[in-house]
Amino acid sequence: MALLEVQHLKKYYATQKAVDDISFSIGAGKIFGLLGPNGAGKTTLLRMITGIFYPDEGNIIFEGQPFEPEKDILRIGYMPEERGLYKKMKIGEHAIYLAQLKGMSRSEALEKIKSWFERFDMQSWWNKKVEDLSKGMQQKLQFVTTVLHEPSLIILDEPFSGLDPVNANLIKEEIYGLAKKGCTIIFSTHRMEQVEEICDQIVLVDKGKKILDGDVAGVKEAFKEYKYRLLAEAPGGLPPSSLYEVLAANGSAYTIQLNGDHDTNAILGELIARGIGIKGFNEILPSLNDIFIRLVNDRQSTTRPFQNHIA
Ligand code: ATP
Repeated sequence: MALLEVQHLKKYYATQKAVDDISFSIGAGKIFGLLGPNGAGKTTLLRMITGIFYPDEGNIIFEGQPFEPEKDILRIGYMPEERGLYKKMKIGEHAIYLAQLKGMSRSEALEKIKSWFERFDMQSWWNKKVEDLSKGMQQKLQFVTTVLHEPSLIILDEPFSGLDPVNANLIKEEIYGLAKKGCTIIFSTHRMEQVEEICDQIVLVDKGKKILDGDVAGVKEAFKEYKYRLLAEAPGGLPPSSLYEVLAANGSAYTIQLNGDHDTNAILGELIARGIGIKGFNEILPSLNDIFIRLVNDRQSTTRPFQNHIA
């Protein structure tokens, strides 16, 4: 059963179609990447999933039932991009206050917060004020208060912004650990390399529309261009062939693109038959960044005549 299903969601601001008929579903324990260029509609979508906005149209199904914000919000942890901590409050009391808003008793909150603070090496912060923490420290605090009540859905908008590599890694490991325990995570970011590393499934939105949906490996496979990196001892360079084109050469490293039926065994056979020593042969799959740029640019070029018309 899907933990979250969004069905034909629409949200308009005046005439701006911020979210325009978007559907997808996310299974329990999955790490899901919500991607899109600036203004694509991600924040609007997340605000509907967290009950901040009502959709103009469409349905949200949470844990198999129609989403009821007042009740279900206690099962969701949301870390928005604009962090919302009270600057003058002391860290310990602040964490307890946020935990109580999520339905925890003071004693339960205290026990859980102490355990998280220990794990994140934050014990000495207890009596400091939020305003005395660095941006990265505030980020850690915000992460802890988002996951403290053990929600079944955690939504993280740019969770690594402002974190050094050690702390980014700490949070990343926690994200993996939470997913392993069955928690579902929606992760919104512009940092494609993080999505590629962390997410099981992605949805790409642009101008309010969903333009791509799938598991990361499947998406990369679907966009592959049959390019390979070949390391070969070929005195005088790689010979021309009807089976491939040489796109780039650097010493004994070549980038080739296969022609025709994409038979890698035939290529290797031909090279070996010509006395070429093969040291390495790997497929080059496009990065999510390449796919993202390609899809968004393609859409821009198809909508450009309309935009020119407006201008
Ligand atoms: P970013 O990555 O830049 O944060 P986003 O994908 O989160 O962008 P949204 O903030 O959801 O995008 O915005 C989607 C569209 O809706 C944009 O065109 C934006 O200008 C518009 N929009 C967002 N909030 C409002 C609002 N309160 N009133 C009017 N238009 C809005």
